[in-house]
Amino acid sequence: MLPGISFADAESTFEEADFVIYGVPFDRTTSFRPGTREGPHEIRKSSYNFETFMFEHEADTEDIKLHDLGNMDDFGLVDHMVAEGEVVIGNIVANGKFPIVLGGEHSVTIPAVRSFEDISYISIDAHLDFRDSHLGERNSHACVTKRCADHLGLENVFVIGCRSISKEEWRSGPLPGYLDSYTVFEIGIEKAVKEALDSVGNEKVYISLDIDGIDPAFAPGTGTPEPFGLTPYDVKKLINIVGDRMVGFDVVEVSPIYDNGNTAALAARMVREAICVATKHRS
Ligand code: MN
Ligand code: MN
Repeated sequence: MLPGISFADAESTFEEADFVIYGVPFDRTTSFRPGTREGPHEIRKSSYNFETFMFEHEADTEDIKLHDLGNMDDFGLVDHMVAEGEVVIGNIVANGKFPIVLGGEHSVTIPAVRSFEDISYISIDAHLDFRDSHLGERNSHACVTKRCADHLGLENVFVIGCRSISKEEWRSGPLPGYLDSYTVFEIGIEKAVKEALDSVGNEKVYISLDIDGIDPAFAPGTGTPEPFGLTPYDVKKLINIVGDRMVGFDVVEVSPIYDNGNTAALAARMVREAICVATKHRS
Protein backbone atom coordinates (compact mmCIF):
# COMPACT_ATOMS: atom_id res chain seq x y z
CA MET A 1 0.00 0.00 0.00
CA LEU A 2 1.06 3.58 -0.59
CA PRO A 3 2.11 5.71 1.05
CA GLY A 4 3.70 4.31 4.19
CA ILE A 5 3.39 0.94 5.85
CA SER A 6 0.45 -1.35 6.57
CA PHE A 7 -0.75 -2.41 10.02
CA ALA A 8 1.25 -5.30 11.47
CA ASP A 9 0.13 -8.77 10.32
CA ALA A 10 -2.24 -7.34 7.70
CA GLU A 11 -1.18 -10.01 5.21
CA SER A 12 -4.54 -11.01 3.75
CA THR A 13 -6.10 -9.80 0.51
CA PHE A 14 -9.33 -7.82 0.74
CA GLU A 15 -11.28 -10.80 -0.58
CA GLU A 16 -10.04 -13.26 2.05
CA ALA A 17 -10.01 -10.81 4.97
CA ASP A 18 -12.38 -10.89 7.96
CA PHE A 19 -11.11 -7.51 9.20
CA VAL A 20 -10.27 -4.48 7.07
CA ILE A 21 -8.30 -1.48 8.29
CA TYR A 22 -8.82 1.91 6.66
CA GLY A 23 -6.98 5.12 7.54
CA VAL A 24 -8.59 8.52 7.21
CA PRO A 25 -5.90 11.18 7.81
CA PHE A 26 -8.41 14.01 8.07
CA ASP A 27 -8.19 16.88 10.56
CA ARG A 28 -9.84 19.88 8.95
CA THR A 29 -12.62 20.55 11.45
CA THR A 30 -10.35 20.22 14.48
CA SER A 31 -11.25 22.98 16.89
CA PHE A 32 -8.22 23.42 19.13
CA ARG A 33 -4.94 22.07 17.73
CA PRO A 34 -4.55 20.04 14.51
CA GLY A 35 -2.28 17.06 13.87
CA THR A 36 -4.50 13.97 13.76
CA ARG A 37 -3.77 13.64 10.03
CA GLU A 38 -0.56 11.91 11.13
CA GLY A 39 -2.52 9.48 13.33
CA PRO A 40 -2.98 6.54 10.94
CA HIS A 41 0.71 6.39 10.04
CA GLU A 42 1.94 6.53 13.64
CA ILE A 43 -0.63 3.96 14.81
CA ARG A 44 0.49 1.58 12.04
CA LYS A 45 4.15 2.10 12.94
CA SER A 46 3.39 1.38 16.60
CA SER A 47 1.52 -1.80 15.68
CA TYR A 48 4.92 -3.49 15.12
CA ASN A 49 5.75 -3.00 18.79
CA PHE A 50 3.78 -6.06 19.90
CA GLU A 51 4.11 -9.83 19.94
CA THR A 52 1.75 -11.32 17.37
CA PHE A 53 0.50 -13.71 20.09
CA MET A 54 -1.94 -12.36 22.68
CA PHE A 55 -1.88 -14.95 25.41
CA GLU A 56 -4.96 -13.73 27.29
CA HIS A 57 -7.06 -14.36 24.17
CA GLU A 58 -5.03 -17.36 23.01
CA ALA A 59 -5.03 -15.60 19.65
CA ASP A 60 -2.23 -14.85 17.23
CA THR A 61 -2.74 -11.98 14.83
CA GLU A 62 -0.70 -13.90 12.26
CA ASP A 63 -3.63 -16.34 12.09
CA ILE A 64 -6.27 -13.64 11.76
CA LYS A 65 -7.34 -12.59 8.26
CA LEU A 66 -6.57 -8.90 8.27
CA HIS A 67 -6.28 -6.53 5.32
CA ASP A 68 -5.09 -2.91 5.33
CA LEU A 69 -6.66 -0.74 2.63
CA GLY A 70 -4.24 2.09 3.32
CA ASN A 71 -5.41 5.67 3.65
CA MET A 72 -8.09 7.73 2.01
CA ASP A 73 -5.93 9.78 -0.33
CA ASP A 74 -8.39 12.09 -2.00
CA PHE A 75 -10.58 14.44 -0.02
CA GLY A 76 -11.12 18.14 0.28
CA LEU A 77 -13.80 19.44 2.56
CA VAL A 78 -15.30 17.37 5.34
CA ASP A 79 -18.34 16.53 3.21
CA HIS A 80 -16.04 15.01 0.56
CA MET A 81 -14.33 12.93 3.24
CA VAL A 82 -17.71 11.70 4.53
CA ALA A 83 -18.93 10.84 1.02
CA GLU A 84 -15.74 8.96 0.11
CA GLY A 85 -15.76 7.18 3.47
CA GLU A 86 -19.33 5.98 2.94
CA VAL A 87 -18.29 4.40 -0.38
CA VAL A 88 -15.19 2.63 0.96
CA ILE A 89 -16.42 1.62 4.43
CA GLY A 90 -19.85 0.80 2.98
CA ASN A 91 -18.10 -1.65 0.66
CA ILE A 92 -16.25 -3.26 3.59
CA VAL A 93 -19.52 -3.74 5.49
CA ALA A 94 -21.46 -4.89 2.40
CA ASN A 95 -18.88 -7.65 1.96
CA GLY A 96 -19.52 -8.94 5.49
CA LYS A 97 -16.19 -7.77 6.85
CA PHE A 98 -15.43 -5.99 10.12
CA PRO A 99 -14.22 -2.40 9.52
CA ILE A 100 -11.51 -0.80 11.63
CA VAL A 101 -11.05 2.90 10.96
CA LEU A 102 -7.94 4.81 12.00
CA GLY A 103 -8.39 8.58 12.38
CA GLY A 104 -7.95 11.35 11.82
CA GLU A 105 -10.36 13.38 13.82
CA HIS A 106 -13.66 12.09 15.14
CA SER A 107 -15.67 13.15 12.08
CA VAL A 108 -14.22 10.09 10.28
CA THR A 109 -16.64 8.01 12.39
CA ILE A 110 -19.65 9.53 10.63
CA PRO A 111 -19.26 7.62 7.32
CA ALA A 112 -18.37 4.45 9.23
CA VAL A 113 -21.58 4.47 11.27
CA ARG A 114 -23.64 5.41 8.22
CA SER A 115 -22.34 2.25 6.56
CA PHE A 116 -24.50 0.24 8.97
CA GLU A 117 -28.23 0.02 9.63
CA ASP A 118 -29.89 -1.10 12.86
CA ILE A 119 -26.85 -0.98 15.11
CA SER A 120 -26.06 0.83 18.34
CA TYR A 121 -23.19 3.25 18.77
CA ILE A 122 -21.07 3.43 21.91
CA SER A 123 -18.25 5.93 22.10
CA ILE A 124 -15.51 6.44 24.63
CA ASP A 125 -14.95 10.18 24.65
CA ALA A 126 -14.11 13.10 26.93
CA HIS A 127 -16.70 15.03 24.97
CA LEU A 128 -20.38 14.49 24.28
CA ASP A 129 -19.91 15.61 20.63
CA PHE A 130 -23.61 16.43 20.52
CA ARG A 131 -23.62 19.85 18.88
CA ASP A 132 -25.89 20.10 15.85
CA SER A 133 -23.21 22.15 14.10
CA HIS A 134 -19.88 23.63 15.08
CA LEU A 135 -18.29 26.65 13.39
CA GLY A 136 -20.93 26.27 10.69
CA GLU A 137 -20.06 22.61 10.04
CA ARG A 138 -22.56 19.79 10.68
CA ASN A 139 -19.96 17.07 10.10
CA SER A 140 -17.51 18.60 12.58
CA HIS A 141 -15.78 16.32 15.07
CA ALA A 142 -17.83 18.13 17.73
CA CYS A 143 -21.07 16.79 16.16
CA VAL A 144 -20.33 13.07 15.79
CA THR A 145 -22.72 11.74 18.43
CA LYS A 146 -25.46 13.96 17.06
CA ARG A 147 -24.93 12.70 13.49
CA CYS A 148 -24.92 9.09 14.74
CA ALA A 149 -28.17 9.78 16.60
CA ASP A 150 -29.66 11.23 13.40
CA HIS A 151 -28.85 7.97 11.62
CA LEU A 152 -29.52 5.38 14.34
CA GLY A 153 -32.01 7.09 16.66
CA LEU A 154 -31.17 8.85 19.91
CA GLU A 155 -31.95 5.71 21.92
CA ASN A 156 -29.19 3.81 20.12
CA VAL A 157 -26.23 6.02 21.01
CA PHE A 158 -24.30 6.14 24.29
CA VAL A 159 -21.16 7.98 25.41
CA ILE A 160 -18.87 6.65 28.16
CA GLY A 161 -16.25 8.71 29.94
CA CYS A 162 -17.36 12.19 28.94
CA ARG A 163 -16.43 15.12 31.17
CA SER A 164 -16.85 18.09 28.83
CA ILE A 165 -20.33 19.17 27.77
CA SER A 166 -21.00 22.65 26.40
CA LYS A 167 -23.87 24.77 27.71
CA GLU A 168 -25.31 24.69 24.20
CA GLU A 169 -25.37 20.88 24.25
CA TRP A 170 -26.61 20.76 27.84
CA ARG A 171 -29.62 22.91 26.94
CA SER A 172 -30.30 21.42 23.51
CA GLY A 173 -33.09 19.13 24.64
CA PRO A 174 -32.96 15.37 25.08
CA LEU A 175 -29.37 14.21 25.40
CA PRO A 176 -28.05 10.79 24.41
CA GLY A 177 -27.38 8.24 27.09
CA TYR A 178 -24.05 8.88 28.75
CA LEU A 179 -21.98 8.11 31.81
CA ASP A 180 -19.43 10.72 32.74
CA SER A 181 -15.97 9.64 33.84
CA TYR A 182 -16.62 10.66 37.45
CA THR A 183 -19.55 8.24 37.61
CA VAL A 184 -17.54 5.49 35.87
CA PHE A 185 -14.86 5.94 38.49
CA GLU A 186 -17.46 5.53 41.25
CA ILE A 187 -19.43 2.57 39.87
CA GLY A 188 -16.67 0.75 37.94
CA ILE A 189 -16.37 0.07 34.23
CA GLU A 190 -18.21 -3.28 34.28
CA LYS A 191 -21.36 -1.69 35.64
CA ALA A 192 -20.97 1.28 33.30
CA VAL A 193 -20.73 -0.90 30.19
CA LYS A 194 -23.67 -3.01 31.33
CA GLU A 195 -25.72 0.14 31.75
CA ALA A 196 -24.73 1.30 28.26
CA LEU A 197 -25.59 -2.07 26.69
CA ASP A 198 -28.94 -2.15 28.52
CA SER A 199 -29.65 1.39 27.39
CA VAL A 200 -29.13 1.02 23.66
CA GLY A 201 -31.83 -0.61 21.57
CA ASN A 202 -30.02 -2.49 18.83
CA GLU A 203 -28.04 -5.65 19.54
CA LYS A 204 -25.03 -5.00 17.31
CA VAL A 205 -22.62 -2.33 18.53
CA TYR A 206 -20.09 -0.12 16.80
CA ILE A 207 -17.39 1.07 19.23
CA SER A 208 -15.69 4.40 18.63
CA LEU A 209 -12.63 5.14 20.74
CA ASP A 210 -11.91 8.86 20.83
CA ILE A 211 -8.51 8.60 22.46
CA ASP A 212 -9.18 11.72 24.58
CA GLY A 213 -11.69 9.61 26.52
CA ILE A 214 -8.63 8.05 28.14
CA ASP A 215 -6.79 10.21 30.66
CA PRO A 216 -4.11 12.45 29.11
CA ALA A 217 -1.60 10.92 31.51
CA PHE A 218 -1.92 7.74 29.44
CA ALA A 219 -2.78 9.36 26.11
CA PRO A 220 -1.15 12.79 25.86
CA GLY A 221 -1.08 12.81 22.06
CA THR A 222 -4.44 14.33 21.31
CA GLY A 223 -5.83 17.68 20.23
CA THR A 224 -8.14 18.35 23.18
CA PRO A 225 -6.70 16.82 26.36
CA GLU A 226 -9.15 16.63 29.29
CA PRO A 227 -8.11 15.57 32.79
CA PHE A 228 -10.08 12.98 34.80
CA GLY A 229 -10.21 10.39 32.04
CA LEU A 230 -10.68 6.63 31.89
CA THR A 231 -7.77 4.24 32.17
CA PRO A 232 -6.55 2.04 29.30
CA TYR A 233 -7.66 -0.95 31.36
CA ASP A 234 -11.23 0.41 31.47
CA VAL A 235 -11.30 0.50 27.67
CA LYS A 236 -9.79 -2.99 27.37
CA LYS A 237 -12.55 -4.29 29.63
CA LEU A 238 -15.22 -2.40 27.69
CA ILE A 239 -14.13 -4.04 24.42
CA ASN A 240 -14.22 -7.47 26.07
CA ILE A 241 -17.63 -6.95 27.67
CA VAL A 242 -19.20 -5.75 24.40
CA GLY A 243 -17.59 -8.87 22.91
CA ASP A 244 -19.72 -10.63 20.32
CA ARG A 245 -22.02 -7.63 19.94
CA MET A 246 -19.20 -5.62 18.34
CA VAL A 247 -19.45 -5.15 14.55
CA GLY A 248 -17.04 -2.26 13.92
CA PHE A 249 -14.33 -0.29 15.69
CA ASP A 250 -12.41 2.90 15.26
CA VAL A 251 -9.75 4.87 17.09
CA VAL A 252 -9.67 8.59 16.44
CA GLU A 253 -8.11 11.88 17.60
CA VAL A 254 -4.56 10.56 17.99
CA SER A 255 -2.33 13.56 17.34
CA PRO A 256 1.30 12.42 17.07
CA ILE A 257 2.86 15.88 17.32
CA TYR A 258 1.81 16.01 20.99
CA ASP A 259 2.69 12.40 21.65
CA ASN A 260 5.62 10.79 23.43
CA GLY A 261 4.87 7.59 21.53
CA ASN A 262 2.59 6.10 24.15
CA THR A 263 -0.66 7.34 22.62
CA ALA A 264 -0.02 5.77 19.22
CA ALA A 265 1.08 2.54 20.93
CA LEU A 266 -2.07 2.53 23.04
CA ALA A 267 -4.23 3.10 19.95
CA ALA A 268 -2.51 0.25 18.08
CA ARG A 269 -2.91 -2.01 21.10
CA MET A 270 -6.66 -1.25 21.31
CA VAL A 271 -7.05 -2.13 17.62
CA ARG A 272 -5.32 -5.46 18.33
CA GLU A 273 -7.61 -5.99 21.34
CA ALA A 274 -10.72 -5.37 19.24
CA ILE A 275 -9.51 -7.73 16.50
CA CYS A 276 -8.66 -10.53 18.93
CA VAL A 277 -11.97 -10.20 20.81
CA ALA A 278 -14.04 -10.02 17.62
CA THR A 279 -12.25 -12.94 15.98
CA LYS A 280 -13.20 -15.25 18.87
CA HIS A 281 -16.81 -14.63 18.03
CA ARG A 282 -16.46 -14.96 14.26
CA SER A 283 -14.98 -18.45 14.33
MN1 MN B 1 -14.95 12.98 19.99
MN1 MN C 1 -13.12 13.99 22.44
